[in-house]
Amino acid sequence: KSKESGRGVHYAYEPAMLQKAEERRAIESALRQALENGELHLVYQPVVTLASKEIAGFEALLRWTSAELGEVPPEKFIPIAEETRLIDPIGEWVFRNACAEAVTWPENYRLAVNLSSGQLRNPRLCTAIVSALSQSGLAPHRLEVETTEAILSNDSDQPIKTFEQLRGLGVTVALDDFGTGYSTLGFIGRTRFSSIKIDKSFIRNAESGSKTSIAVIRAVIAMADSLGIATIAEGVENDQQFKLAERLGCAQVQGYFVDRPMSASEVHTLIGDPRDEAAA
Ligand code: C2E
Ligand code: MG
Ligand code: MG
Ligand code: MG
Repeated sequence: KSKESGRGVHYAYEPAMLQKAEERRAIESALRQALENGELHLVYQPVVTLASKEIAGFEALLRWTSAELGEVPPEKFIPIAEETRLIDPIGEWVFRNACAEAVTWPENYRLAVNLSSGQLRNPRLCTAIVSALSQSGLAPHRLEVETTEAILSNDSDQPIKTFEQLRGLGVTVALDDFGTGYSTLGFIGRTRFSSIKIDKSFIRNAESGSKTSIAVIRAVIAMADSLGIATIAEGVENDQQFKLAERLGCAQVQGYFVDRPMSASEVHTLIGDPRDEAAA
């Protein structure tokens, strides 16, 4: 009997493991070509200020359309890019392209770019960001980098050093997906984030009536307000969630209800292109 159940376990899990390893290898080898083959592009999602109902800026989100694998979501390829350190050249590409795009927007719009914890372990990251800023001519105060609580799980103090250097330039730092990791109040106080993005799971649960989620959101906003940190509700998908974010006192919202991530040219249609006005 024990032999049988042992075999059962064996069969139940080995094909899944193999499939995972297979998929991982396929993604890794395709990802090595992605940059050279021009398979990456960025989309931009508006962030709206609730008080004015105006667009404050856009978050750049990476998209990969692989010749072999088709559309691969960032949640699948970014972890692999980190393990293989392909994240360094890919991350530099993201900053160069996003900054070059944002400099064509009217000056009041800001740009947010995501940084994974693996990128933040690279001591050369700051130099790459500085060069993306200077080559594009984007003013550093228009750039915000977004990082998650995952940076707490590496013992390196490189992320904190990088944030200090970036802040020295005028770049701001946001804490992304807040509430999904292991932040401590000490970490939040020390790291001097300029904004906190409340994870979409809280917004969803709060809308479906979770008293705990509402209490957590209220507490986060109260803490952020007293520290002078702005709050952004992420993943706002419907009118109820939008109103809830507003009622709870979030400063900004982002999500499908406001707008989906869009192409660079759609951004121009939405906000106008100052180069057109200069030409007219
Ligand atoms: P994130 O930074 O938290 O980005 C927000 C994610 O939520 C995006 O997924 C966005 O498309 C999605 N989203 C926006 N509004 C809604 C909504 O109303 N409902 C729902 N359910 N989702 C919404 P995406 O583009 O698939 O990116 C996933 C994650 O991959 C990002 O999470 C970020 O951590 C990472 N990522 C994306 N682009 C980059 C990049 O250029 N560099 C790095 N290092 N990471 C990136
Ligand atoms: Mg983000
Ligand atoms: Mg997020
Ligand atoms: Mg996320």
